[in-house]
Amino acid sequence: MKLYPKRRVFNARDKLYLYYLLISHFVLILFTIVFTIQKFYLAAFFEAIMLVPFCTSFYLFLLNRLDYSKWIAVTSSLVIVMIQTNVIFTPSSGFQYMLIPLLVISFLFNDLNQFRNRIFGVVFSIIICFGYFISSSYQFFGPVLSIDSDINHLFRIISTIVSFVALIFMLYMYSLQLAKTEANLSYLADHDALTKIYNRGYFASIGQAYYLSHKEKKLPLSAIIFDIDNFKSINDNYGHHIGDVVLKDLAITVNAIIRSNYIFARYGGEEFAILLENTHLEHTLQIAEGIRSKLASLCVAHQNSCINFTVSLGVATLSDKHHSFEDVMKDADKALYISKYRGKNQTNTI
Ligand code: GH3
Ligand code: MG
Ligand code: MG
Repeated sequence: MKLYPKRRVFNARDKLYLYYLLISHFVLILFTIVFTIQKFYLAAFFEAIMLVPFCTSFYLFLLNRLDYSKWIAVTSSLVIVMIQTNVIFTPSSGFQYMLIPLLVISFLFNDLNQFRNRIFGVVFSIIICFGYFISSSYQFFGPVLSIDSDINHLFRIISTIVSFVALIFMLYMYSLQLAKTEANLSYLADHDALTKIYNRGYFASIGQAYYLSHKEKKLPLSAIIFDIDNFKSINDNYGHHIGDVVLKDLAITVNAIIRSNYIFARYGGEEFAILLENTHLEHTLQIAEGIRSKLASLCVAHQNSCINFTVSLGVATLSDKHHSFEDVMKDADKALYISKYRGKNQTNTI
Protein backbone atom coordinates (compact mmCIF):
# COMPACT_ATOMS: atom_id res chain seq x y z
CA MET A 1 0.00 0.00 0.00
CA LYS A 2 1.24 3.48 -0.88
CA LEU A 3 1.60 5.70 2.19
CA TYR A 4 1.89 9.11 0.52
CA PRO A 5 -0.50 9.97 -2.29
CA LYS A 6 1.33 11.55 -5.22
CA ARG A 7 2.18 15.24 -4.69
CA ARG A 8 0.31 15.46 -1.39
CA VAL A 9 -0.26 19.11 -0.50
CA PHE A 10 -0.93 19.99 3.14
CA ASN A 11 -3.19 22.95 3.79
CA ALA A 12 -3.07 25.10 6.95
CA ARG A 13 -5.49 22.83 8.82
CA ASP A 14 -3.67 19.63 7.90
CA LYS A 15 -0.40 21.15 9.06
CA LEU A 16 -1.96 22.28 12.34
CA TYR A 17 -3.31 18.79 12.91
CA LEU A 18 0.08 17.31 12.12
CA TYR A 19 1.68 19.64 14.70
CA TYR A 20 -0.97 18.60 17.20
CA LEU A 21 -0.16 14.92 16.65
CA LEU A 22 3.58 15.56 16.98
CA ILE A 23 3.10 17.65 20.15
CA SER A 24 0.83 14.94 21.61
CA HIS A 25 3.49 12.30 20.95
CA PHE A 26 6.08 14.55 22.55
CA VAL A 27 3.90 15.24 25.63
CA LEU A 28 3.11 11.54 26.12
CA ILE A 29 6.79 10.61 25.90
CA LEU A 30 7.67 13.51 28.25
CA PHE A 31 5.19 12.34 30.88
CA THR A 32 6.22 8.70 30.48
CA ILE A 33 9.78 9.81 31.35
CA VAL A 34 8.68 12.13 34.20
CA PHE A 35 6.47 9.42 35.77
CA THR A 36 9.18 6.80 35.40
CA ILE A 37 11.71 9.10 37.11
CA GLN A 38 9.17 9.73 39.88
CA LYS A 39 8.68 5.93 40.09
CA PHE A 40 4.98 6.19 39.18
CA TYR A 41 5.23 3.12 37.00
CA LEU A 42 1.48 2.60 36.57
CA ALA A 43 1.03 6.17 35.31
CA ALA A 44 4.10 5.80 33.07
CA PHE A 45 2.70 2.54 31.66
CA PHE A 46 -0.64 4.23 30.98
CA GLU A 47 1.07 7.10 29.13
CA ALA A 48 3.13 4.65 27.07
CA ILE A 49 0.00 2.61 26.20
CA MET A 50 -1.74 5.79 25.06
CA LEU A 51 0.93 6.26 22.41
CA VAL A 52 -0.86 3.45 20.53
CA PRO A 53 -4.01 5.44 19.55
CA PHE A 54 -1.82 8.45 18.68
CA CYS A 55 0.49 6.36 16.49
CA THR A 56 -2.69 4.95 14.86
CA SER A 57 -3.93 8.51 14.24
CA PHE A 58 -0.58 9.41 12.72
CA TYR A 59 -0.68 6.34 10.47
CA LEU A 60 -4.24 7.18 9.37
CA PHE A 61 -3.10 10.75 8.69
CA LEU A 62 -0.40 9.42 6.37
CA LEU A 63 -3.04 7.27 4.65
CA ASN A 64 -5.11 10.45 4.18
CA ARG A 65 -7.93 9.08 6.37
CA LEU A 66 -8.15 12.38 8.19
CA ASP A 67 -11.66 11.94 9.60
CA TYR A 68 -10.88 8.72 11.47
CA SER A 69 -7.50 10.06 12.45
CA LYS A 70 -8.98 13.20 14.06
CA TRP A 71 -11.74 11.31 15.87
CA ILE A 72 -9.25 8.89 17.40
CA ALA A 73 -6.76 11.62 18.36
CA VAL A 74 -9.30 13.97 19.94
CA THR A 75 -11.17 11.19 21.78
CA SER A 76 -7.90 9.68 23.03
CA SER A 77 -6.72 13.09 24.25
CA LEU A 78 -9.92 13.57 26.22
CA VAL A 79 -9.79 10.05 27.71
CA ILE A 80 -6.10 10.34 28.64
CA VAL A 81 -6.53 13.67 30.38
CA MET A 82 -9.60 12.57 32.32
CA ILE A 83 -8.17 9.22 33.46
CA GLN A 84 -4.91 10.90 34.43
CA THR A 85 -6.65 13.71 36.33
CA ASN A 86 -9.52 11.88 37.98
CA VAL A 87 -8.37 8.27 38.35
CA ILE A 88 -4.59 8.08 38.53
CA PHE A 89 -4.05 11.45 40.25
CA THR A 90 -6.40 14.11 41.59
CA PRO A 91 -7.79 17.30 40.01
CA SER A 92 -5.23 19.29 42.01
CA SER A 93 -2.49 17.83 39.74
CA GLY A 94 -3.79 20.24 37.05
CA PHE A 95 -3.73 17.77 34.12
CA GLN A 96 -7.20 19.01 33.07
CA TYR A 97 -5.56 22.23 31.76
CA MET A 98 -4.48 20.19 28.74
CA LEU A 99 -8.09 20.22 27.56
CA ILE A 100 -7.83 23.96 26.78
CA PRO A 101 -5.63 23.61 23.65
CA LEU A 102 -7.78 20.64 22.63
CA LEU A 103 -10.87 22.83 22.77
CA VAL A 104 -9.33 25.43 20.46
CA ILE A 105 -7.92 23.06 17.89
CA SER A 106 -11.08 20.93 17.65
CA PHE A 107 -12.34 23.92 15.62
CA LEU A 108 -9.11 25.09 13.99
CA PHE A 109 -8.08 21.86 12.35
CA ASN A 110 -11.46 21.22 10.74
CA ASP A 111 -12.71 22.51 7.41
CA LEU A 112 -15.79 24.33 8.71
CA ASN A 113 -17.18 24.62 5.17
CA GLN A 114 -18.47 21.09 5.67
CA PHE A 115 -21.57 20.65 7.78
CA ARG A 116 -20.43 17.47 9.53
CA ASN A 117 -17.17 19.17 10.54
CA ARG A 118 -19.13 22.02 12.08
CA ILE A 119 -21.17 19.47 14.02
CA PHE A 120 -17.92 17.71 15.02
CA GLY A 121 -16.47 21.00 16.30
CA VAL A 122 -19.54 22.04 18.25
CA VAL A 123 -20.25 18.61 19.76
CA PHE A 124 -16.63 18.08 20.74
CA SER A 125 -16.24 21.55 22.20
CA ILE A 126 -19.29 20.93 24.40
CA ILE A 127 -17.92 17.53 25.46
CA ILE A 128 -14.51 19.07 26.18
CA CYS A 129 -16.00 21.94 28.26
CA PHE A 130 -18.11 19.42 30.14
CA GLY A 131 -15.05 17.20 30.60
CA TYR A 132 -13.03 20.15 31.87
CA PHE A 133 -15.54 21.06 34.59
CA ILE A 134 -16.06 17.42 35.62
CA SER A 135 -12.30 16.88 35.68
CA SER A 136 -11.73 19.99 37.79
CA SER A 137 -14.35 19.03 40.39
CA TYR A 138 -14.70 15.25 40.82
CA GLN A 139 -12.63 12.23 41.66
CA PHE A 140 -14.12 9.26 39.78
CA PHE A 141 -12.03 6.61 41.40
CA GLY A 142 -8.92 6.42 43.53
CA PRO A 143 -6.56 8.23 43.27
CA VAL A 144 -4.57 5.18 42.18
CA LEU A 145 -1.38 7.06 43.13
CA SER A 146 -1.21 9.27 46.18
CA ILE A 147 1.40 11.94 45.76
CA ASP A 148 2.56 14.63 48.10
CA SER A 149 1.76 18.29 47.54
CA ASP A 150 5.23 19.20 46.19
CA ILE A 151 4.91 16.70 43.32
CA ASN A 152 1.31 17.81 42.77
CA HIS A 153 2.58 21.36 42.48
CA LEU A 154 5.30 20.28 40.02
CA PHE A 155 2.71 18.48 37.82
CA ARG A 156 0.48 21.53 37.97
CA ILE A 157 3.31 23.74 36.74
CA ILE A 158 4.28 21.30 33.96
CA SER A 159 0.64 20.94 32.84
CA THR A 160 0.09 24.69 32.78
CA ILE A 161 3.28 25.39 30.84
CA VAL A 162 2.78 22.53 28.36
CA SER A 163 -0.87 23.53 27.77
CA PHE A 164 -0.17 27.19 27.14
CA VAL A 165 2.99 26.64 25.11
CA ALA A 166 1.11 24.11 22.93
CA LEU A 167 -1.79 26.51 22.55
CA ILE A 168 0.40 29.47 21.63
CA PHE A 169 2.53 27.38 19.27
CA MET A 170 -0.46 25.98 17.41
CA LEU A 171 -2.27 29.32 17.18
CA TYR A 172 0.94 30.91 15.90
CA MET A 173 1.52 28.20 13.28
CA TYR A 174 -2.10 28.35 12.17
CA SER A 175 -2.10 32.15 11.91
CA LEU A 176 1.16 32.01 9.96
CA GLN A 177 -0.25 29.47 7.53
CA LEU A 178 -3.42 31.50 7.18
CA ALA A 179 -1.46 34.69 6.46
CA LYS A 180 0.56 32.88 3.76
CA THR A 181 -2.62 31.45 2.23
CA GLU A 182 -4.23 34.90 2.22
CA ALA A 183 -1.15 36.43 0.57
CA ASN A 184 -1.20 33.68 -2.09
CA LEU A 185 -4.90 34.14 -2.75
CA SER A 186 -4.56 37.88 -3.02
CA TYR A 187 -1.62 37.43 -5.45
CA LEU A 188 -3.68 34.99 -7.56
CA ALA A 189 -6.65 37.38 -7.54
CA ASP A 190 -4.55 40.31 -8.83
CA HIS A 191 -2.09 38.62 -11.21
CA ASP A 192 -2.20 36.84 -14.51
CA ALA A 193 -1.13 33.21 -14.15
CA LEU A 194 0.91 33.06 -17.38
CA THR A 195 2.79 36.35 -17.49
CA LYS A 196 2.81 37.08 -13.71
CA ILE A 197 1.89 40.72 -14.36
CA TYR A 198 -1.36 42.27 -13.10
CA ASN A 199 -4.66 41.05 -14.52
CA ARG A 200 -7.50 43.07 -16.00
CA GLY A 201 -9.54 43.06 -12.77
CA TYR A 202 -6.73 44.63 -10.77
CA PHE A 203 -6.01 47.13 -13.57
CA ALA A 204 -9.68 48.20 -13.62
CA SER A 205 -9.91 48.65 -9.85
CA ILE A 206 -6.66 50.66 -9.61
CA GLY A 207 -7.68 52.59 -12.73
CA GLN A 208 -10.97 53.60 -11.14
CA ALA A 209 -9.19 54.76 -7.96
CA TYR A 210 -6.57 56.72 -9.96
CA TYR A 211 -9.28 58.20 -12.15
CA LEU A 212 -11.10 59.65 -9.13
CA SER A 213 -7.98 60.99 -7.39
CA HIS A 214 -6.31 62.38 -10.53
CA LYS A 215 -9.50 64.02 -11.75
CA GLU A 216 -10.05 65.67 -8.38
CA LYS A 217 -6.48 66.93 -8.10
CA LYS A 218 -6.32 67.76 -11.83
CA LEU A 219 -3.23 65.61 -12.30
CA PRO A 220 -2.40 63.96 -15.64
CA LEU A 221 -3.33 60.28 -16.02
CA SER A 222 -2.65 58.30 -19.18
CA ALA A 223 -3.23 54.80 -20.50
CA ILE A 224 -1.62 52.69 -23.20
CA ILE A 225 -3.27 49.64 -24.74
CA PHE A 226 -1.27 47.45 -27.07
CA ASP A 227 -1.90 44.25 -28.96
CA ILE A 228 0.49 41.85 -30.67
CA ASP A 229 0.25 42.01 -34.45
CA ASN A 230 -0.70 38.79 -36.24
CA PHE A 231 -0.28 36.76 -33.09
CA LYS A 232 -2.53 34.06 -34.46
CA SER A 233 0.12 33.30 -37.10
CA ILE A 234 2.79 32.85 -34.35
CA ASN A 235 0.51 30.27 -32.72
CA ASP A 236 -0.21 28.65 -36.06
CA ASN A 237 3.44 28.53 -37.17
CA TYR A 238 5.18 27.59 -33.91
CA GLY A 239 2.43 26.19 -31.67
CA HIS A 240 0.46 27.54 -28.74
CA HIS A 241 3.27 26.79 -26.30
CA ILE A 242 5.68 29.08 -28.17
CA GLY A 243 2.91 31.68 -28.33
CA ASP A 244 2.88 31.54 -24.52
CA VAL A 245 6.67 32.03 -24.44
CA VAL A 246 6.25 35.16 -26.61
CA LEU A 247 3.66 36.53 -24.17
CA LYS A 248 5.96 35.87 -21.19
CA ASP A 249 9.01 37.42 -22.90
CA LEU A 250 6.96 40.46 -23.84
CA ALA A 251 5.82 40.92 -20.23
CA ILE A 252 9.41 40.63 -18.89
CA THR A 253 10.73 43.07 -21.50
CA VAL A 254 8.08 45.73 -20.96
CA ASN A 255 8.27 45.39 -17.17
CA ALA A 256 12.00 46.06 -17.36
CA ILE A 257 11.65 49.35 -19.27
CA ILE A 258 8.70 51.04 -17.60
CA ARG A 259 8.71 52.84 -14.26
CA SER A 260 7.77 50.73 -11.26
CA ASN A 261 4.83 52.98 -10.34
CA TYR A 262 3.14 52.32 -13.69
CA ILE A 263 0.52 49.58 -13.60
CA PHE A 264 1.20 47.02 -16.30
CA ALA A 265 -1.47 44.38 -16.90
CA ARG A 266 -2.53 41.66 -19.27
CA TYR A 267 -5.75 43.10 -20.61
CA GLY A 268 -6.88 40.16 -22.75
CA GLY A 269 -5.37 37.22 -24.67
CA GLU A 270 -2.52 39.04 -26.44
CA GLU A 271 -3.55 42.51 -25.39
CA PHE A 272 -1.79 44.51 -22.66
CA ALA A 273 -2.43 47.82 -20.89
CA ILE A 274 -0.34 50.29 -18.92
CA LEU A 275 -1.66 52.94 -16.55
CA LEU A 276 0.69 55.89 -16.20
CA GLU A 277 0.01 58.20 -13.28
CA ASN A 278 1.18 61.82 -13.42
CA THR A 279 2.21 61.41 -17.06
CA HIS A 280 1.18 63.77 -19.86
CA LEU A 281 0.12 62.71 -23.36
CA GLU A 282 3.45 63.66 -25.02
CA HIS A 283 5.53 61.67 -22.56
CA THR A 284 3.09 58.72 -22.80
CA LEU A 285 3.44 58.73 -26.60
CA GLN A 286 7.22 58.63 -26.20
CA ILE A 287 6.97 55.72 -23.76
CA ALA A 288 4.60 53.88 -26.12
CA GLU A 289 7.00 54.38 -29.04
CA GLY A 290 9.87 53.15 -26.82
CA ILE A 291 7.91 49.98 -26.06
CA ARG A 292 7.03 49.48 -29.73
CA SER A 293 10.63 49.75 -30.96
CA LYS A 294 11.99 47.65 -28.07
CA LEU A 295 9.51 44.84 -28.81
CA ALA A 296 10.11 45.07 -32.57
CA SER A 297 13.79 44.31 -31.95
CA LEU A 298 13.13 41.60 -29.33
CA CYS A 299 14.45 38.15 -30.16
CA VAL A 300 12.34 35.33 -28.74
CA ALA A 301 14.75 32.42 -28.97
CA HIS A 302 13.40 29.34 -30.74
CA GLN A 303 15.49 26.46 -32.17
CA ASN A 304 18.65 28.52 -32.72
CA SER A 305 16.77 31.36 -34.37
CA CYS A 306 14.62 34.32 -33.37
CA ILE A 307 10.90 34.82 -33.44
CA ASN A 308 10.20 38.49 -34.11
CA PHE A 309 6.92 40.26 -33.68
CA THR A 310 5.48 43.78 -33.54
CA VAL A 311 2.77 45.46 -31.53
CA SER A 312 0.20 48.16 -32.26
CA LEU A 313 -0.50 50.72 -29.57
CA GLY A 314 -3.22 53.18 -28.59
CA VAL A 315 -2.75 56.04 -26.14
CA ALA A 316 -5.28 58.18 -24.23
CA THR A 317 -5.03 60.82 -21.52
CA LEU A 318 -7.66 61.78 -18.97
CA SER A 319 -9.53 64.95 -19.98
CA ASP A 320 -12.74 66.79 -19.11
CA LYS A 321 -14.72 64.79 -21.67
CA HIS A 322 -14.13 61.56 -19.71
CA HIS A 323 -16.79 60.63 -17.14
CA SER A 324 -15.30 57.36 -16.00
CA PHE A 325 -12.10 55.34 -16.22
CA GLU A 326 -13.76 53.13 -18.85
CA ASP A 327 -14.15 56.25 -21.06
CA VAL A 328 -10.35 56.73 -20.97
CA MET A 329 -9.79 53.07 -21.84
CA LYS A 330 -12.35 53.25 -24.65
CA ASP A 331 -10.37 56.12 -26.20
CA ALA A 332 -7.12 54.15 -25.86
CA ASP A 333 -8.85 51.19 -27.51
CA LYS A 334 -10.09 53.36 -30.39
CA ALA A 335 -6.53 54.65 -30.86
CA LEU A 336 -5.27 51.04 -30.93
CA TYR A 337 -7.84 50.25 -33.59
CA ILE A 338 -6.53 53.18 -35.67
CA SER A 339 -2.98 51.76 -35.36
CA LYS A 340 -4.21 48.37 -36.60
CA TYR A 341 -6.23 49.96 -39.39
CA ARG A 342 -3.30 52.07 -40.61
CA GLY A 343 -1.04 49.06 -41.03
CA LYS A 344 0.01 47.89 -37.50
CA ASN A 345 3.40 48.32 -35.75
CA GLN A 346 2.65 51.93 -34.79
CA THR A 347 1.30 54.16 -32.02
CA ASN A 348 -1.73 56.46 -32.29
CA THR A 349 -3.94 58.60 -30.11
CA ILE A 350 -7.32 60.17 -30.85
P1 GH3 B 1 -4.16 41.37 -35.10
O1 GH3 B 1 -2.86 41.79 -35.70
O2 GH3 B 1 -5.32 41.98 -35.80
O3 GH3 B 1 -4.19 41.61 -33.62
O4 GH3 B 1 -4.28 39.79 -35.34
P2 GH3 B 1 -4.05 38.67 -34.28
O5 GH3 B 1 -3.78 37.40 -35.02
O6 GH3 B 1 -3.02 39.05 -33.31
O7 GH3 B 1 -5.42 38.68 -33.53
P3 GH3 B 1 -6.53 37.61 -33.37
O8 GH3 B 1 -7.53 38.25 -32.45
O9 GH3 B 1 -7.02 37.11 -34.69
O10 GH3 B 1 -5.85 36.41 -32.64
C1 GH3 B 1 -5.41 36.50 -31.33
C2 GH3 B 1 -4.92 35.13 -30.98
O11 GH3 B 1 -4.34 35.13 -29.69
C3 GH3 B 1 -6.02 34.11 -30.95
C4 GH3 B 1 -5.79 33.34 -29.69
O12 GH3 B 1 -5.73 31.95 -29.91
C5 GH3 B 1 -4.43 33.82 -29.21
N1 GH3 B 1 -4.32 33.79 -27.78
C6 GH3 B 1 -5.09 34.37 -26.86
N2 GH3 B 1 -4.66 34.09 -25.61
C7 GH3 B 1 -3.55 33.29 -25.75
C8 GH3 B 1 -2.67 32.67 -24.84
O13 GH3 B 1 -2.78 32.79 -23.63
N3 GH3 B 1 -1.65 31.93 -25.35
C9 GH3 B 1 -1.49 31.78 -26.70
N4 GH3 B 1 -0.47 31.04 -27.11
N5 GH3 B 1 -2.34 32.33 -27.57
C10 GH3 B 1 -3.35 33.10 -27.12
MG1 MG C 1 -3.35 40.73 -32.06
MG1 MG D 1 -6.29 40.99 -29.73
